[in-house]
Amino acid sequence: MKRIYRQLTALALGTMLASQAWAFGGFNLDLNKIISAGKNLSEASKEISEPEEISIGEGMASVLLGAAPLLKNDAIQTYINQVGRYLSLQTERPDLPWHFGVLDSVSVNAFATPGGHIFVTSGLLKKMHSEAELAGVLSHEIAHVLRKHHLAAMKKAGGMGFLTDVASIAVDQKGGGGYAGKELSKNLISGMKEILVRGLDKDDEYEADRMGIVIATRSGYDPYGLPAVLQTLDGLSGTSDVSLLFSTHPAPASRLDTLSGLMQSKFDHYQGQSVSDRFRRLVPNGGNN
Ligand SMILES: [Zn+2]
Repeated sequence: MKRIYRQLTALALGTMLASQAWAFGGFNLDLNKIISAGKNLSEASKEISEPEEISIGEGMASVLLGAAPLLKNDAIQTYINQVGRYLSLQTERPDLPWHFGVLDSVSVNAFATPGGHIFVTSGLLKKMHSEAELAGVLSHEIAHVLRKHHLAAMKKAGGMGFLTDVASIAVDQKGGGGYAGKELSKNLISGMKEILVRGLDKDDEYEADRMGIVIATRSGYDPYGLPAVLQTLDGLSGTSDVSLLFSTHPAPASRLDTLSGLMQSKFDHYQGQSVSDRFRRLVPNGGNN
């Protein structure tokens, strides 16, 4: 993993965003490659396996880390992993290799990659006021992983080229060479970047909001953590630090509108819930014996 991170540190997302030429190059169907892939094609037409999903996600995490390094603060990195892994345990995919990290960037954003790499920028972290807000954001990203939204977007954008690349990952793994030391294919990398710049389908974002609130609430957090962050983001509208986030997501106000009915009918009961209050609630005389 570290090895790919190093290989790709030359890729800077800032520069990539400044010149978007690559973003629209996207996946080019490489017929020779498809033909030579031969029997791998039949494998490619199958569903993407979990090891393939994880490999793709590691590649995408490398692209992100090449653009913005991890914040050099071990206490914060440990903390975000504690919160994130606890949340992920409350989901139907607790066994994925979940990793959480804070990227050193003033840009206000959060990212997920297939297989369970989740990043929040230090710019977004600074705008938050509580662990419930952090849990809301992480749960939204966890939901993208659970529902495989990025894989669906890559498949849609890349078609057969993407599936062929995925098949070649599978072959590499079977060969015992592992994927981490191999060059990521250009198609796969450009597809990843394209998703990062274009964003996901709006419906996927709304779904991640709904699921994120369920995951955070199930984990014992106030369900209003994510809506509180969306309100903060709404207030940042028009500033440069949120430009990528705003161009890749529905407007915060419309996300709040979409959530409001759900919140009132299902989650008001849990408002004010706090993980740190659980002990006091369950053990009212704790510490007195
Ligand atoms: Zn999202």
